[in-house]
Amino acid sequence: NETVSKNFIENIIDKDLADGIYDTVHTRFPPEPNGYLHIGHAKSILLNYGLAKEYNGKFNMRFDDTNPTKEKSEFVESIKADIKWLGADWEDRLFFASDYFGQMYEAAIKLIKKGKAYVCDLTADEIRQYRGTLTEPGKESPYRNRSVEENLQLFEEMKEGKYADGEKVLRAKIDMASPNMNMRDPVIYRVAHMTHHRTGDTWCIYPMYDFAHPIEDAIEGITHSICTLEFEDHRPLYDWVVRELEYPQPPKQIEFAKLYLTNVVTGKRYIKKLVEDGIVDGWDDPRLVSIAALRRRGFTPESIKMFVDLCGVSKANSSVDYAMLEYCIREDLKLKRPRMMAVMDPVKLVIDNYPEGQVEYLDAPNNMENEALGTRKIPFSGELYIERDDFMIDPPRKYKRLFPGTEVRLMNAYFVTCTGFEADDDGTVHVVHCTYDPATKGGNAPDGRKVKGTIHWVEATNAKKATVRLYENIVDEEKGVYNKEDGSLNVNPNSLTTVTAYVEPALMEAKGYDSYQFVRNGFYCADIHDSKEGAPVFNRIVSLKSSFRL
Ligand code: ATP
Ligand code: MG
Ligand code: MG
Repeated sequence: NETVSKNFIENIIDKDLADGIYDTVHTRFPPEPNGYLHIGHAKSILLNYGLAKEYNGKFNMRFDDTNPTKEKSEFVESIKADIKWLGADWEDRLFFASDYFGQMYEAAIKLIKKGKAYVCDLTADEIRQYRGTLTEPGKESPYRNRSVEENLQLFEEMKEGKYADGEKVLRAKIDMASPNMNMRDPVIYRVAHMTHHRTGDTWCIYPMYDFAHPIEDAIEGITHSICTLEFEDHRPLYDWVVRELEYPQPPKQIEFAKLYLTNVVTGKRYIKKLVEDGIVDGWDDPRLVSIAALRRRGFTPESIKMFVDLCGVSKANSSVDYAMLEYCIREDLKLKRPRMMAVMDPVKLVIDNYPEGQVEYLDAPNNMENEALGTRKIPFSGELYIERDDFMIDPPRKYKRLFPGTEVRLMNAYFVTCTGFEADDDGTVHVVHCTYDPATKGGNAPDGRKVKGTIHWVEATNAKKATVRLYENIVDEEKGVYNKEDGSLNVNPNSLTTVTAYVEPALMEAKGYDSYQFVRNGFYCADIHDSKEGAPVFNRIVSLKSSFRL
């Protein structure tokens, strides 16, 4: 029921529309192009895009590229690709905050003319000292009362490149005694002789985030400017900027809690270290949670949307278990993907009464819960591979699979009865022997007898070898993500295991990003970088087993 499940942001929007504060909803996603997007950003993207859709409004994609130190064009492209993949469509509304540098400069001049901004010669350290503390009011800068004319001239000179970095700044003239530190005459423009990735050397003064962001929102006609909780204290400054600049329909900032996932690494510094130390093979290593990594691992946009929806939107910080993300991808792929047979740790199964040298082709449903996926033919003969742990010489009481004297079902094929095995002195089994019942073709006995277990298999002569990567969390869950002593990462030495599996021949056609269920095991996706034509490499997205319950 829609009305029950509305989040606090929707409630704010409903009220704004009802009160006539806005007559439309216009949101934006404003990343800084200084890194790859991660699962937390996905929440913000889908939230902003989702609200625009829900209210028949608009959604802007805006690169917040006002700080030339950290920004690179390389990230612009990866960010666009990630957002497209998530399905957030900005249509023709792609913007760069750097395109507004002229308007921001004009806005600064407007403040100076109103007596609301001044050029200050204090150093960064002095500004900090003058700012005071939470318990003590700040001290006014000796430059605070410069005349409008002098400020206009000095600001012009800043722009002309007359001053070195840090020599002068432009500050908003607000209140040095404000209980909110952000309101104690914040710096709004600084000198920085740096080349910007888009505007080159046109500018040597750059606006600060708290000044630039509300202007960007106002220029674009954003109504609800959604950001994360750490900006709550900045909201009075946001409101001050849009009020003093007299925008006719000022945007409104709304904060929500960041998404945190347990047992994953999102910090750029740590990921960089993992890459440099060769523990992961890049920003999109399937064990990471950048959007590119999740895509490479085999997550779908639908699964991420489901995850974000389940997390909800709130004002309280909390962490979500990675298992919930796994739950979402299982749910999404369950009916969509074919269920194939792959044997990870093979042992030979020989059917002694099967006609020697014969191969037959059996019909198998691609997904027994979704007929629409059709059927396929799978080869079958007297020599198969089964999983090593589907056979035991001397099993515990509840074991339902193969052991001497028992009958099990070979999935999509026949009933077989174990008649013996060949093993080394140390107990390592090489061959399991059995007989089959030709009357049980398709997996049911005409006499109605039942078997306790069903196991999967692949036909030995047609089986193909495929590289399969099994993943665990990159960090050691037992020890916690970070080492308490030195803050280093507790890396899980077993986060990647590579095995060679025997798979059905049909799986060799897999192309990068194709995904499948490997029956009784998990969901797998062909790696986009390492798969070759006819030789896919499969990444385990998630195993079928889960401890997570909704
Ligand atoms: P990071 O430091 O992880 O890159 P950021 O805040 O610097 O995060 P930006 O590029 O500034 O990243 O963020 C773009 C948008 O994504 C912002 O509106 C920000 O609030 C939002 N965002 C960033 N991290 C999260 C998160 N963990 N959960 C929800 N939203 C997030
Ligand atoms: Mg960022
Ligand atoms: Mg940021």
